[in-house]
Amino acid sequence: MKALIVIDYTVDFVVGKLPVGEPAIAIESRIVELTESFIQQGEFVVMAVDLHHQDDPHHPETKLFPPHNIQGTPGRDLYGQLKDTYEGNRSHIYWMDKTRYSAFCGTDLELQLRNRGIQELHLVGVCTDICVLHTAVDAYNKGFDLVIHEDAVASFNESGHTWALGHFRDSLGANIRSER
Ligand code: ZN
Repeated sequence: MKALIVIDYTVDFVVGKLPVGEPAIAIESRIVELTESFIQQGEFVVMAVDLHHQDDPHHPETKLFPPHNIQGTPGRDLYGQLKDTYEGNRSHIYWMDKTRYSAFCGTDLELQLRNRGIQELHLVGVCTDICVLHTAVDAYNKGFDLVIHEDAVASFNESGHTWALGHFRDSLGANIRSER
């Protein structure tokens, strides 16, 4: 069994308050294609979506980044066509709020995966060297097998993106895949 974890592909992270910009826009169609393909195969699909509250003095990101993905704002909507794919397949997609970089931190993701006997995690989304990286490290430590779709991850930091792909492959034993 395998699962697709779509990480932080929201308006704020693509073109909004904390935007990756062009590299994130460029992966839209591939993320949608993979999401639809996993749904068609009956595989588990997770939207892991950053959640913040305005001016939260206790959150470590408050001093690191401008406010982003604030609860109840349009910036937290999934970006572009992925939003339509989600709306049309709500019963087949697990929406999961997360409040830290890793999709495992403070969430029930591991339980959801173990309940389904899932061993292989496919990661897509942004940023390659922040939330995708931290999720991949946690997955590795928990013993999951990793597939990273190079054509469906992106970062505002090109050298960070390249470094993270090498780290996934060489230190986390991930299978790096690309159709393009
Ligand atoms: Zn955040």
